[in-house]
Amino acid sequence: MSKVSIVECKTYELEEVKRAIEIAMGKADFPDISGKKVLLKPNILSDAAPEKCVTTHPVVLKAVIQLVRERGAGEILVGDSPALQNGGFKPKISQLNQICEEEGVEWVDFTIKPISKKLPIANHKVAMARIIDDVDLSISLPKFKTHEFMYMTGAMKNMFGLMPSVRKSAQHVRHPSRSSFARMICGISSVAKVEFAIMDAVMGMEGPGPGNGYPRAVNKIIAGKNPLAVDIAQATMMGYDPMKMPVIKCALENQIMEISSVDQVEYPLISAKDVIIKDFQRIGNNQPSDLDDHESEHLQRPAPQFDDDKCIYCKKCINICPAKALTFEEEKVCIDETKCIRCYCCHEVCPVSAISIPH
Ligand code: SF4
Ligand code: SF4
Repeated sequence: MSKVSIVECKTYELEEVKRAIEIAMGKADFPDISGKKVLLKPNILSDAAPEKCVTTHPVVLKAVIQLVRERGAGEILVGDSPALQNGGFKPKISQLNQICEEEGVEWVDFTIKPISKKLPIANHKVAMARIIDDVDLSISLPKFKTHEFMYMTGAMKNMFGLMPSVRKSAQHVRHPSRSSFARMICGISSVAKVEFAIMDAVMGMEGPGPGNGYPRAVNKIIAGKNPLAVDIAQATMMGYDPMKMPVIKCALENQIMEISSVDQVEYPLISAKDVIIKDFQRIGNNQPSDLDDHESEHLQRPAPQFDDDKCIYCKKCINICPAKALTFEEEKVCIDETKCIRCYCCHEVCPVSAISIPH
């Protein structure tokens, strides 16, 4: 069994957040970290203002740093590597860099001399932040959010950020279907040394996440030793069938995270089934289809649509597109749908919600 603590937390007041995380840690068997080197991995995505609910909230990071320090960590490091940010990036808009400075912890640049790691499950090598070989353990700090491609983000998918910068895009070409991409995420989670996950679900995101959805008060901190179990709790609260979430299904089937069934999650405080958000805006507002198991399922998915009136011509979508399906012609973004692999990376990075995914 894997324990997941769900704790009420209604504001981003530091004392309330810290109290909620401390309770969650205590009830979900937080590991002994005394003297250890710990990497904290928030979800930054594209570095947005905290009120947009794209990133892990700075107060959650501050509370975790203080609690990890109080529990005797030898060294605390913080890092993430958004796809369109190169070396030297610091998360200023999301205020996470400011928290690192206030707390005197090091922000790690994942792009410096990445290492090569062979991923189990996916069975190939990827570039990964060098720091992962240097720390004793990592703590995943995801945000409670929907995700157009994978239905939801989560504690496991959050560790995809260990792959430096735009190198992540190439994985979409290699793994275009949801089931294949899930194998790659499971492979990363297997080597990411995650020994605890603390999800910021005080304010979450519903609708067209992970970058352009709508803030939604969830009023919870969700935490546990097993990132898969935390993801099962999140999926349940969102109203999804957890077994239809590609990453959860793949992880359970391959038994890479100790448990082999959603029934092996134990809730010492609030049960996820008792706090399902009944009107939560899921992706497509439906349950995912069984089609997701097919390797060519991406060819059935809708291509993104572009709103020329909203576009500010930043070209971020063009720069991130791993299939080179986008061009800029006659002052508007044009898509070649025969090249598009429906990864929705363009949708993730658009700063003005000019890209939508039809459902
Ligand atoms: S156009 Fe968008 S969805 Fe299509 S391949 Fe490019 S980034 Fe992915
Ligand atoms: S990312 Fe959005 S705003 Fe920027 S060019 Fe693409 S559609 Fe336009």
